[in-house]
Amino acid sequence: EPGSRTVSGACFSQVQPQPLINPTFVAVSGSALALLGLNAEEVLHDPLGPEYLSGSKVLPGAEPAAHCYSGHQFGVFAGQLGDGAVCYLGEVEAPGGQLGSLLHDNPCGRWEIQVKGAGVTPYSRESDGRKVLRSSIREFLCSEAMAGLGIPTTRAASLVTSDLCVSRDPLNQGQRRPERCSVVLRIAPSFIRFGSFEIFHSRDEFSGRRGPSPGRHDIRAQLLDYVIDTFYPDIQRNHGDCKDRNTAFFKEVTVRTARLVALWQSVGFCHGVLNTDNMSILGLTVDYGPFGFMDRYDPEYVCNASDRRGRYSYRAQPSVCHWNLARLAEALGSELHASEAAAILDEFMPLYKTFYLANMRRKLGLVMRKEPEDHELVSELLRLMHNTGADFTNTFRMLSGLSCPVEGEEAVVVSLVVDRILQQCASLEELKVANMPTMEPCDLAMVFSMAQTNPAMFSLVADQPEVAHQLEKMGWLKELLSTNQDELRAKQREDWLRWVSQYRKRLARECDGASDLGTIQQERVHIMDRTNPRVVLRNYIAQNAILAAENGDFSEVRRLLKVLENPYSTQTEWELSGEPKTFGEKAHERVE
Ligand code: AMP
Ligand code: MG
Ligand code: MG
Repeated sequence: EPGSRTVSGACFSQVQPQPLINPTFVAVSGSALALLGLNAEEVLHDPLGPEYLSGSKVLPGAEPAAHCYSGHQFGVFAGQLGDGAVCYLGEVEAPGGQLGSLLHDNPCGRWEIQVKGAGVTPYSRESDGRKVLRSSIREFLCSEAMAGLGIPTTRAASLVTSDLCVSRDPLNQGQRRPERCSVVLRIAPSFIRFGSFEIFHSRDEFSGRRGPSPGRHDIRAQLLDYVIDTFYPDIQRNHGDCKDRNTAFFKEVTVRTARLVALWQSVGFCHGVLNTDNMSILGLTVDYGPFGFMDRYDPEYVCNASDRRGRYSYRAQPSVCHWNLARLAEALGSELHASEAAAILDEFMPLYKTFYLANMRRKLGLVMRKEPEDHELVSELLRLMHNTGADFTNTFRMLSGLSCPVEGEEAVVVSLVVDRILQQCASLEELKVANMPTMEPCDLAMVFSMAQTNPAMFSLVADQPEVAHQLEKMGWLKELLSTNQDELRAKQREDWLRWVSQYRKRLARECDGASDLGTIQQERVHIMDRTNPRVVLRNYIAQNAILAAENGDFSEVRRLLKVLENPYSTQTEWELSGEPKTFGEKAHERVE
């Protein structure tokens, strides 16, 4: 029966996706469709293509259903959530040829397909189960962009829009407008998430919340058997004892999650809503809502407008994942060896750091040897990028262009490199704007010391009478005002010079004792170019495509898809403006 309700004793509810009016393709992903054995051209030319791929018509044999799950949202247990806007259509066997190459990614050899935005389910609560063009374009493009980057993710095979409209308030300013209902066809081996297990918390923990299966540990055990047997066949095979097996499974989820978040950090990706219901049991990136790729490097970057406290900031992601894994361990409860699970959790941060450092070494081309100081080389680079407003993506890509030896005297070469880096750093004005949000200082001393070395903070202080007044009271203002702005800029340049020269010394040590320098350098540039993307889905770039699509022009979405499928390509025919544009701009749209 339709309508929002509490669902008891079940993991899935049978539902029917609701048809759109005049469904039409905005874009399709050839590589994602190929996973299902479909050809993009054929799909595009099939008059019924948009009908079937949006769930407006349902194929014979489909078993549409909505999944019942729970989760912790912003740190609070939320009771029953479930697929409120998603409809599972069934599973498709992977075409024969895929099995060899995909065995690792998808050992079950089946693809689960879902339509996102297909109307109400028992889990829709007060909402309508629809998605609009904006949010669908973002989910579609970013899923495929992540796949292009080589980061584990759910896939998006098609994007359909329609003449059916719902009313939304995108800026959350009390101004609703009609928007076109749109549907993304999503694919993954499974969309089961941490929250799929949290739904079985005991009744106490639900404490009045809507919950379908509190304490139903029998269903929890069944779901666990299914997940391990289907998606972790090696673990199933290698463990006779059930608790041993489950604990090994928990360990593997922990490893995959650490690897995933390390990959996010190394491309400057911020998920935005890392609630436990958005954490994949397979270590995939799932649920593209208010995500963002950082432009200029800022560890405090927050991409979700409703995340006022920055719970899901870029910097917080690893520790949030750790926290989420602890919730999964809780949800699995007596299915795990408790002390082993605790030890696995304790290993998460060191594991994450190992993955992260390995990624960063590759990004810097430090591939022949490991040095204990590499960690400092990386953090020093990030600090510099932050202080000077360097673009995260572009800086790394430039380093890969600069990592082979340039002919000439070392000092001249380094200076040349630094000039190029500084060219794309933020202007003092931009830096000032960017630092604005951090300028409600309760700690004047910190402001003072920052303003001494950071021109942005300096101009900010100089411009804010209230802050300046307080600094004067402390007797610090005079000292600050005597600092020269040009000197500060010169100091930034010196800092970069020092770093680049350190970096080049480290690069030189890569070749220590090697006879074939040319080959090593070639290989290094090759690795760096495959690790440092030339393009990422910056917010304003997605926004341009959205505006055009809302006006009926889908060409920019299609062009972006092509570019993002090959983010490491050196081809310039797919020119994409990679300028950082949104420095300091806080997320302003509600993405729904
Ligand atoms: P999210 O923050 O996207 O992970 O979603 C949290 C919960 O809200 C999930 O249960 C979603 O299924 C549900 N939800 C999100 N969007 C909609 C929508 N348009 N209609 C109904 N439920 C939704
Ligand atoms: Mg979600
Ligand atoms: Mg969502």
